[in-house]
Amino acid sequence: MREKILYYSSNRYLSSAEDKKPAHSVPFREALLVGQAPDEGLYMPEKIPRLSLSDIHALKGRPYTEAALLVAEAYLGADLPLETLTAVIASSYNYEVPLERVVDRLYVLRLDRGPTASFKDFAARMMARLMSYFRDPGKRLNVLVATSGDTGSAVGEAFKGVAGIDVYILYPRDEVSGRQKKQLDTIGGNVRTLSVEGKFDDCQDLVKQAFADPDLAGLNLNSANSINFGRILPQMIYYVYAYAQLAEPGDEIVFSVPSGNFGDALGCEYARRMGLPVSRLVMPTNENNEFPRFLETGIYEKISPSRACLSNAMNVGHPSNLARLFELYGGTVDRTGFVHRVPDLETMRKNIFSVAVSDEETRQTIRRAYEQYGLILEPHGAVGWRGLEHYLEQAGKSSLCVSLETAHPAKFPEEIESLLGISPELPASMQDIDRRSGEPLPMTVDYEIFRQFLITTLKATD
Ligand SMILES: *Cc1c(COP(=O)(O)O)cnc(C)c1O
Repeated sequence: MREKILYYSSNRYLSSAEDKKPAHSVPFREALLVGQAPDEGLYMPEKIPRLSLSDIHALKGRPYTEAALLVAEAYLGADLPLETLTAVIASSYNYEVPLERVVDRLYVLRLDRGPTASFKDFAARMMARLMSYFRDPGKRLNVLVATSGDTGSAVGEAFKGVAGIDVYILYPRDEVSGRQKKQLDTIGGNVRTLSVEGKFDDCQDLVKQAFADPDLAGLNLNSANSINFGRILPQMIYYVYAYAQLAEPGDEIVFSVPSGNFGDALGCEYARRMGLPVSRLVMPTNENNEFPRFLETGIYEKISPSRACLSNAMNVGHPSNLARLFELYGGTVDRTGFVHRVPDLETMRKNIFSVAVSDEETRQTIRRAYEQYGLILEPHGAVGWRGLEHYLEQAGKSSLCVSLETAHPAKFPEEIESLLGISPELPASMQDIDRRSGEPLPMTVDYEIFRQFLITTLKATD
């Protein structure tokens, strides 16, 4: 029997002089259902389990679900029965995970074949099923999400048809693209959309007010937040999978991970600490360069407001998961971006390479990768690829390298057409998108009206 892993808060070293007590360690179930620790830190595993290299190499040629089971069981083996975990994984990962050889030993890992064609599907689908399993029996979970587009559809699709959970997605009526709106409104079933007559910030405010409203406490509201550890764990799996498929015993690997809130890169950092032979984690950002500057200078300054770049899912001026990364290297940074303890910079620089990639470089990379290799990248993946090139120029030696493509090029048709003169084919999961139907519920920015809607609509029990 495995030992149960407990989760502590990344704010554990902050003075408890303020009114918030330091959080105690909690089991996975609580970290998953609560999301954020009561002291506003992020939950982290007290112990990082080790995988044996022979178990990893044994995954060569095996399906993705086997890699998923090896990694997930190491964390959750004592929290839920193996049959349940196996079923969660089988229904989460029922799409392909292509590894595309580009040149020599350089590969692109395409994480874009899930239902909403972004890598966020990997985490959201497993988290949704784990929440369904761990929720209080008999009590429905009501997930509220405010979205500016992509996260909402990944979360919505992930919870579609999941027992005991209803999802309400709020999006700004005039700020999502036609295709995004279609993706959101047509999920259907237990997932409903509210088209809000306002901006993204208004949607977020409505959701925040609902969470803080004592009158709604009985409705079992949950945020399925992006800082949930339940979303980090699934993001360790594809690193183990990719290494196992490509490596020979003794090989080391470099991963390049286009980074915004650092959840994806953190998955790689944990995988390395579990024993995966990652010689370098490359973390390219767009023009929101607070992290590469920190690695260079040792001084952290968040960027506020964040810069609007082509790779829009990475427009983050203070990554929420930086708190976890710092903690892993013996540092502490809080939600506002204030550094209480500086992490071990020397070790960080040895393990991590980071560089900012401008929009101009991103466009050039999309063009050049296509001309040189016939490789089709979208803006996020292009930042990843360019970051890897920067790293290889500096490292001077080439080894096994994998760059992550985090969204499907067909999600950026205008950009790809203007740069490459082709229109990328929609992935299988999105081919019928224009034929789907569904309508949102209209909503104003008036909290009282939203509140009444929740009280009359939401079910608190099964
Ligand atoms: C969210 C997202 C990213 C950034 O991932 P983080 O985990 O926030 O660093 C990169 N690419 C795409 C397409 C995304 O949706």
